[in-house]
Amino acid sequence: MVHQTTHFFNLGYGWLCKHCSSETAERKQQHRHNHASKPQPPPLARWVDQSHSGLICPRCGIQENFYSPLNTLT
Ligand SMILES: [Zn+2]
Repeated sequence: MVHQTTHFFNLGYGWLCKHCSSETAERKQQHRHNHASKPQPPPLARWVDQSHSGLICPRCGIQENFYSPLNTLT
């Protein structure tokens, strides 16, 4: 069971980009005195295709392929 990869980690209900997650945490510290606006969590990563061979972050656009079934024989 994979819980994290190079660029993404598993929240249990979806995958989140590590880079955007860390940016959100930094923003939260900088605006901790602002009670009016709640920090928005970064959007969950999307699968690049229906075979779930990779993930892409809709926010920063980073992409990572987990495996390539067609290339396992090479
Ligand atoms: Zn991202």
